[in-house]
Amino acid sequence: MSRPELPTDAPRLAKPVEAAFTGTLDELRLEARGCRRCPLWRPATQTVFGAGPQDAAMMLIGEQPGAQEDLAGEPFVGPAGALLRELLQQAGLDVARLYLTNTVKHFKYEPRGKARLHKRASASEQAACRPWLAAELARVRTPVVVALGAMAAQTLFGSSFRVTRDRGAWQAIGPATSALATWHPSAILRMRPPEREVARAQLLEDLRKAATRAQRGGPGAGDREARARPTSDPARR
Ligand code: SF4
Repeated sequence: MSRPELPTDAPRLAKPVEAAFTGTLDELRLEARGCRRCPLWRPATQTVFGAGPQDAAMMLIGEQPGAQEDLAGEPFVGPAGALLRELLQQAGLDVARLYLTNTVKHFKYEPRGKARLHKRASASEQAACRPWLAAELARVRTPVVVALGAMAAQTLFGSSFRVTRDRGAWQAIGPATSALATWHPSAILRMRPPEREVARAQLLEDLRKAATRAQRGGPGAGDREARARPTSDPARR
């Protein structure tokens, strides 16, 4: 399969993307099942690719699959997913109209007895997986993107992005795509009161903002151009 560059008007990631994949979304999903671009495929059960319609009203990007997503092969089906789905409903968003995905597509963990403890993907593992996310963004082409947590936010906006400081602000990531970043629901579940209630309210506020933008259907005049946006370097695999 040839590997041409991403379309010039596709949404762009701030972090470099070293390959551009061709094929339809379904073909990409199938191809990702056999991905060996980094070592994470080996201990994991399966690739957890994004899920949702190609004409989705919004794309939500998390960090990496957890233990339950690894077993189910679907993103956001664990406790963090339950919180996200509850808040999406409160924000008036129909999950069937959304595309849910992660920055990294395999579960990374450390065995501890019978448990599998979540481990953060390394910078090189994130880089290896980035072409899949870039390909999803190029195929789904939704007008609104929400990054959940620091890993997704920094992939979209650059390493200097801080969720605590920068969440909730729109940035243009393409001619027809606005993005904002907010809390990852799993970070909220790890917090203690009263911080947990504050962050939960902020996540809901940001999802409502995204719902309003999705209804309007695209970037607004006040969007900041994302900082640190190098041209992707699509090398062929
Ligand atoms: S984590 Fe991403 S790059 Fe690594 S093997 Fe899985 S799909 Fe491929």
